[in-house]
Amino acid sequence: MNVELFYPILLESSGVCIDSREVVEGSVFFAFTGSSFNAAQNARQAIDRGAIAVIVEDAAFAAPQDKIFRVDSTLVFLQQLARFHRKHLNIPVIGLTGSNGKTTSKELIHAVLSQHFRTQYTKGNFNNHIGVPLSLLSVRAEHQIAVIEMGANHQGEIAFLCEIARPTFGYITNFGKAHLEGFGGLEGVIKGKSELYDYLKSEGATALVNQEDTLQVAKMEGYQPAIRFGVHSGQYLFTPLEEDRYIGISFEGQKAISNLTGAYNFSNLSAAVALGLHFGVPLQKIKEGIEQYVPSNMRSQVVTKDHHTLVLDTYNANPSSMKEALANFSQFQGSKCAVLGAMKELGEYSMQEHADIYGLAQKSGLERIITVGVEFAQVGAQNENYSDVYELIEGLNRNPIKEQNILIKGSRGTALEKCLENL
Ligand code: ATP
Ligand code: MG
Repeated sequence: MNVELFYPILLESSGVCIDSREVVEGSVFFAFTGSSFNAAQNARQAIDRGAIAVIVEDAAFAAPQDKIFRVDSTLVFLQQLARFHRKHLNIPVIGLTGSNGKTTSKELIHAVLSQHFRTQYTKGNFNNHIGVPLSLLSVRAEHQIAVIEMGANHQGEIAFLCEIARPTFGYITNFGKAHLEGFGGLEGVIKGKSELYDYLKSEGATALVNQEDTLQVAKMEGYQPAIRFGVHSGQYLFTPLEEDRYIGISFEGQKAISNLTGAYNFSNLSAAVALGLHFGVPLQKIKEGIEQYVPSNMRSQVVTKDHHTLVLDTYNANPSSMKEALANFSQFQGSKCAVLGAMKELGEYSMQEHADIYGLAQKSGLERIITVGVEFAQVGAQNENYSDVYELIEGLNRNPIKEQNILIKGSRGTALEKCLENL
């Protein structure tokens, strides 16, 4: 099956998916091989649920069957189809990458642009070699702008995703200490993420540059076309605001207070406002977009529970975002307890980074520090350390947290949100 022949079916479809349980009437379903039995069963289930086409790679489907399209590799076909589809989309495509804040920026950009345009965007965190093609395939004729998150943990991945998404606008949220293992240290992170800049340069596409970030400024010195924003320089000038732990932004005589906590969210807000201004979203609408967005995704969420104020940041953690979260939390008024989960994917840097974060936590004016994961125990955080979230829950039942403010932050693998009910 080649993509060109298949393309009319895609255009007719109601959507694409890779999980047979998500199939609805009119879906195209991409089946990834598990066991042959599963593959056949999933394909059958998808058709029963109304799929108009099922892409399979399993040898069990050698004989032609109605609605079933056999390819050599489902993944390659998905990527090729997305590439082909992208060539037919004549709209701005905003590509985002960076170490921290991609999803938050993506959500905020969508919140602002969708006030004025029919905007499509990456759902959830679908930002890899499967997620990016799926996101692109979800962009349809009615959409006027697409916002695509691109994630990576190795060199070459962003370049590959750029070839599929062909962004006409690109933004790197920052270069931080995340995925140090796969990238090979911070230098490697900068090189890997900058593949987006390399792509923009090769195409003469527009770069969004945060003028407050010296690394970004250095990388894009003198580059045109660019949308530059900052507190001190750039064509769009913004001022950070803070109201009752929530971060806001002042722009063009407007004030917008978000539902996000953490000073680091100011750059995420700035990127969204800059794009809103660039695309001509009315000022009042930009403000509404920022103010209406409520995170529900365990990122920088503030939750009030009984007498406690919880900062729920359990979606992910790495040294840069831990540092920012602790800096933000240490400024809260009242007694404070931090529950810190291990940071994953740090390889040879793991010991040092956990030691640094634990040291920082000890200097952050906290009444109680709880750590979860052997990574912290290894660097001397034995005081109140639990091996996993289940042990943590038992510990909390024995010795509940009395502090008024609680920060909960850890890598996805530690799933710290499971302890919520026990607070
Ligand atoms: P992932 O790599 O998991 O896709 P991401 O880049 O999409 O992550 P978010 O999910 O938006 O990032 O945010 C994850 C966490 O990173 C937040 O909860 C917050 O602690 C931190 N964070 C968000 N924005 C920034 C920022 N601009 N600078 C530093 N840390 C940030
Ligand atoms: Mg993300």
